[in-house]
Amino acid sequence: MEYERERKRLVNSLKEYNISEKTLKAMNKVPRHLFVPSIQIAEAYVDHPLPIGYAQTISAPHMVAMMCDLLDLHEGQTILEIGAGSGYNAAVMAEIMGKKGNIYSIERLEKLAVFAQENLKNAGYSNVEILCADGSLGLPEHAPYDRICVTASAPCTPLPLIEQLKPGGIMVLPEGKRYQRLYLIKKDMKGNIIKEDRGGVIFVPLVGDHGFNMLCGDR
Ligand code: SAM
Repeated sequence: MEYERERKRLVNSLKEYNISEKTLKAMNKVPRHLFVPSIQIAEAYVDHPLPIGYAQTISAPHMVAMMCDLLDLHEGQTILEIGAGSGYNAAVMAEIMGKKGNIYSIERLEKLAVFAQENLKNAGYSNVEILCADGSLGLPEHAPYDRICVTASAPCTPLPLIEQLKPGGIMVLPEGKRYQRLYLIKKDMKGNIIKEDRGGVIFVPLVGDHGFNMLCGDR
């Protein structure tokens, strides 16, 4: 009951970011306190990122809400998320989609992949599959994707992710190291890419073959 009240207050506070009704409604249903380490539980409904161990974070609720809105999610879509972390962002996406559709979420750190999968199970989300791998390579076996959500900052847009996005598909992705920007990337029906800058953000780095220290260079 106490969590419900705190969640409601948090979700109300997100209105100042002009978040859509459908995203606010979904966030009102997802129990964020089940996605944070027990030591962080008192902070679960505060609008800021929280540590989840292994030098990683669960993103701030307003950032989750803004990315979900940019993605324009619908029932029945096939979604790829890079950076499962706690599983919370995947749960919000699943809720927006009415739990109808398939979400594949990749996490490079095995302990966090297990953490995310357990959290999702405890919260009742069965249409999210967590995989432990380098998400900068995408997930070719289930491609193409209607939507791709990247929750770690890349040095440049990973080519495999562009290739695995459906024509008509949408991807959101933070790019940059110290100075990061959030990009909304759309692939039109002819395969052309349209990339819009949606402002400054702060994310942990995407580490992998098409992430930092690898093919794209440590820029
Ligand atoms: N979406 C998460 C949530 O709701 O809790 C927050 C994600 S956290 C900001 C970014 C995550 O991306 C970290 O857990 C990190 O280990 C992961 N990550 C970084 N590089 C990755 C890669 N190449 N493939 C998959 N996961 C990666």
